[in-house]
Amino acid sequence: MRVIVLGAGIIGTSTAYWLARDGHEVTVIDRQPAPGQETSFANGGQISASHAEPWANPATPWKALKWLGREDSPLLWRLTRYDPALWAWGLRFLANCTSERTRLNTGRTLRVALYSRRLLKAFNQDNVLDYDRRADGILHFYRDAREFDHACQAAEIMKRFGLKRIVTDAKGCVDREPALAAAQPRLAGGIFTAEDESGDACKFTQALAAMAKGLGVRFLFEKSVDAIECQGSKFKAVRVGQESFMAEACVLACACFSPALLKPLGLNLPVVPAKGYSVTLTAGDGAPHLSLTDDEHKLVFSRLGDRLRIAGTAEFTGLDMSMNQARADIILRKTQDLFPKAGSDPEFWTGLRPVTPDSVPIMGETPIRGLYLNTGHGTLGWTMGLGSGRYVADILGGKPPDIDPEGLGLDRF
Ligand SMILES: Cc1cc2nc3c(=O)[nH]c(=O)nc-3n(C[C@H](O)[C@H](O)[C@H](O)COP(=O)(O)OP(=O)(O)OC[C@H]3O[C@@H](n4cnc5c(N)ncnc54)[C@H](O)[C@@H]3O)c2cc1C
Repeated sequence: MRVIVLGAGIIGTSTAYWLARDGHEVTVIDRQPAPGQETSFANGGQISASHAEPWANPATPWKALKWLGREDSPLLWRLTRYDPALWAWGLRFLANCTSERTRLNTGRTLRVALYSRRLLKAFNQDNVLDYDRRADGILHFYRDAREFDHACQAAEIMKRFGLKRIVTDAKGCVDREPALAAAQPRLAGGIFTAEDESGDACKFTQALAAMAKGLGVRFLFEKSVDAIECQGSKFKAVRVGQESFMAEACVLACACFSPALLKPLGLNLPVVPAKGYSVTLTAGDGAPHLSLTDDEHKLVFSRLGDRLRIAGTAEFTGLDMSMNQARADIILRKTQDLFPKAGSDPEFWTGLRPVTPDSVPIMGETPIRGLYLNTGHGTLGWTMGLGSGRYVADILGGKPPDIDPEGLGLDRF
């Protein structure tokens, strides 16, 4: 089948790779000059399947209220900004913050995340890609004893989903990551997940794109898609300026920019941008090696070869990608506070997480025949990347997917 994939981030590239493996004739269109140049460019690097709890959970509204109006908080939502789509999304998000919905959404998210991690491990056995991979787990550490207590209870619940979470005290955290030694008196404890991984999502996306190219995938860069065209209720073509690209099927994987392409077709895609920041340092003597998550400051740390990547914060400020340098500097200061010799030469970056109200991605066919979605991966697009591509390639090819499609499609909204 002739298939067009829109977007060459981790999600679009993975979809194109698997489609080509299945024998489809694939063209990828992206507005950037290379793969992985937007949200997949400098993210936190974690394959954190074991920590795939949804943002929408009973604790979030209270934390959000606590953080409201604080410029140094991990979450920034400007109440002065009136954006009806964002407010409608916010109400749906709140509706997903009940215990029952959290359980349901956790199950759905984990289904995709664990599948994807399994696939990535198998993929790495058959292929050698250079993307600064570390497969030695993730340590999530806590300073607040009450938060740590909650996390220990959550670890018990997560065991029911088959996740192995090792609860450890402050000394145990330092044993696993000696760079935390100076911070030990401030730590309440940590949760270690041995099967999680980390690596550079952009490098992986580019290496996978090269493999896809080898399988015959055609990449068209620096082409900004203006419209998706239909004939009746069937996909017909993609329009880029005066050019039209025809195919039998199309997969939309344009992250936060997907809703605008669907709206003229009468489809409402509840995906909004949550801007995040990262800082990449040339790693110093005191930089951690193990991938870490600082629960209090909502920061993740990944060692990418001789670099240290630190990422976090969420700003609901629309499609604006500009950098608030004061907030970026806070990430650097918090890092230096934990690891005084973390590194040098900071490079700052912002990216827009494509977030759904229930924290579950939106994958599968739309009511328009031949038009498929692979988007809304929020905080976990790197974690879910390889599996999401395989899943949508299966659905598109009419094969039963390896995981249950329940609750993963647009029809759940
Ligand atoms: C600060 C931060 C930290 C993160 N940390 C992690 C982490 O540790 N682990 C994890 O799993 N996830 C993490 N994420 C989330 C992850 O990065 C995203 O979920 C993932 O990159 C989304 O991939 P994507 O392919 O959907 O989007 P993108 O990589 O943004 O790809 C979409 C592509 O569509 C193209 N496009 C858009 N509109 C058009 C158009 N009109 N025409 C043509 N092309 C178009 C863009 O150019 C882009 O290349 C983080 C995100 C951020 C911001």
